[in-house]
Amino acid sequence: MTDWQARAAALYTGDFRPMFIGGAWVPAQSGEVIEARNPATGALLATIPKGSPADIDAAVRAARRALEGPWARFTPFERQALLLRIAERMDAEWETLCLSDTLDMGMPISRTLLNHRRIIGMLRWYAGQAVAIHGATIPNSFPGEILSMTVKEPVGVVGAIIPWNGPMASAIWKIGPALATGCTVVLKPSEEASLTVLMIARIMQDAGLPEGVLNIVTGMGLEAGAALAAHPEVDKIVFTGSTATGQAIARAATGTLKRVTLELGGKSPVIICKDADLDKAVPVAAMSVFANSGQVCIAGSRLFVERGVQDEVLARLADFAQKLRVGDGLDPGVDLGPLISARQAERVAGYLEAGRAEGAALITGGTRLSGADYGSAQFFAPTVFGNVTDEMRIAREEIFGPVISALPFDTLDEVVARANATPYGLAAGIFTRDLGTAHKLARRTRAGSVWVNMYHAIDPAVPFGGMKQSGYGREGGVEQIEAYLETKAIWINTD
Ligand code: NAD
Repeated sequence: MTDWQARAAALYTGDFRPMFIGGAWVPAQSGEVIEARNPATGALLATIPKGSPADIDAAVRAARRALEGPWARFTPFERQALLLRIAERMDAEWETLCLSDTLDMGMPISRTLLNHRRIIGMLRWYAGQAVAIHGATIPNSFPGEILSMTVKEPVGVVGAIIPWNGPMASAIWKIGPALATGCTVVLKPSEEASLTVLMIARIMQDAGLPEGVLNIVTGMGLEAGAALAAHPEVDKIVFTGSTATGQAIARAATGTLKRVTLELGGKSPVIICKDADLDKAVPVAAMSVFANSGQVCIAGSRLFVERGVQDEVLARLADFAQKLRVGDGLDPGVDLGPLISARQAERVAGYLEAGRAEGAALITGGTRLSGADYGSAQFFAPTVFGNVTDEMRIAREEIFGPVISALPFDTLDEVVARANATPYGLAAGIFTRDLGTAHKLARRTRAGSVWVNMYHAIDPAVPFGGMKQSGYGREGGVEQIEAYLETKAIWINTD
C-alpha cells in the first residue's frame, strides 16, 4: 500500500457527510442522500445530502440574512485578513484537499498537487483585491458645486453552480471574489464530486467565516441547481458547466434579471505550424487534451497540423501517448486517471466508434482499458485520430475524453477560418517560431484565451472566459471582481 492509499483509506470511510447551511452542518430536509463513489474503483466514499428546492430556499435565506447582517459591517481589511487566513489553512491542508479531489473525481494526485499556485495563489490575489476596490470622483457638466462620485457595492447573494472536473479550483474561483467584494454565496457543487467542496467549507468555517456567508447545498442539477438559478432572492448566478445547462440557467435567471456569468464548453483549436519547435509543441499539444483524461473545458481537441509536418507530428504524438501511464490516480506515477462516471465512459466510447465509422485514421489508442490494473470500466487509452475532416463529429463536438482529432491544413488564412468555424470560443493554442505568424493567428482567432508556444496557463490575475457559445463574462482578473460589484452614482449638491 502506497502512502497515498493509506491516507485515502482513512479519509473517506463510507459515512454520511452533511451539507453546510447558515453555519450548521445539516442533512437534506427530505433525508434523501446521494452516493459519492471513487471513479477509479467504484468504492463508496461517503453519502451526501440530496438537497431539494426547500434546502436551496433555506440556504438563500441564510445568505440574505448574512448579507444584511454582520457581514455587511466587515471592513475590506477584515475581509482581506479572512481570505489570507483561509489561504493559510488551505495551504496547511493542501495534500488532504488534493487527495480528496483525486478520490472524488479521479484526477491523478500528481496533477491535483500542481494546482497549488492556481488555488492558494488565487485566494491571496483575491485578498489583495478586497482592499483595492474603490469608486471615483467624476467631473460633471452641471453649473455650480455639484459633486458626482461612484461607489462600488457587493452585487448581493451569489448562486454558484460548478461541474465535477475541477471542483476545488471551480469553488475557489467563485467563493474567493464573493468574499473579496462582500457578497454572500450559495454554492451547489456537482452531484458527481462534492466532497472537497464540503471540506473547503469546513476549513473556511474554522478560519472564522461568519455564518451564512457561504452555504453549500449538495444535490442534483435539475432539482437543487435549477431552484438556485430561478430563486428570486439570488442576485447573481455564476455557472461553470456545459453549454446546454448554461442556456437553461440563463433562461431561468431572466425571471428576476439576475446578473449572469457563464463559463461553458469548448472545442478548442491547437495549431502547429511547420516551423514550430516540435520537441516542445508535441508534448504540450498532447497534454492539452490528455491532462485530466480530456475532461477539461479548454482541451485542445482539434489539432490543426500544417501538412509539411503532419507525418512527423502524428508519429511523435503516438510515441508520446503510448508512454503515458493510465491507472488509479493514487499512484503518483500515473498520468491519466479514470473518467468521472459510467455515463461519461459510454459517451467517450461512442465518440471512438463515431471516429472509426466516419473514416478517421486511428493512430494510437482507441480502446477502453480493462484488467487487474483497472478497478472500474472507466479507463481509456490516450487516443489520436489522424486524417480527420471538419465535418466529422469528433471534430465538431466536445468529447470530454482523452481523444485528439488531428486535421491537416495548408495556409494560415485557411486554418484561421477553420479554427473559428465552431460555435465555441473558449481557448486556442498556436505553435510557431515566427513572431508575425504568432501575432496574426492570436489576433484572428475567436477565443477568450490564446496561448502561443504554451497551453493551459491560467492565473488569478488574468481574465479567463469564453466568446460565442463558450459563455459570457470573465473569471480571474479585475474583470471578475467587477462582475461581483454594482456601481452606484452619488450626487451631492454642495451649494
Ligand atoms: P453540467 O452542465 O452537466 O453540470 C454542471 C453543474 O450544473 C452541475 O453542478 C449540475 O448539477 C448542474 N446542473 C445541471 N443541470 C442544471 C440545471 N438545469 N439547472 C441548474 N443546474 C444544473 O456539466 P458537467 O458535465 O458537470 O461538466 C462538464 C462541462 O463543463 C463541459 O461542457 C465543460 O466544457 C464545462 N466546463 C467549462 C469550464 C469553463 O471554465 N469554461 C470549466 C470546466 C468545465
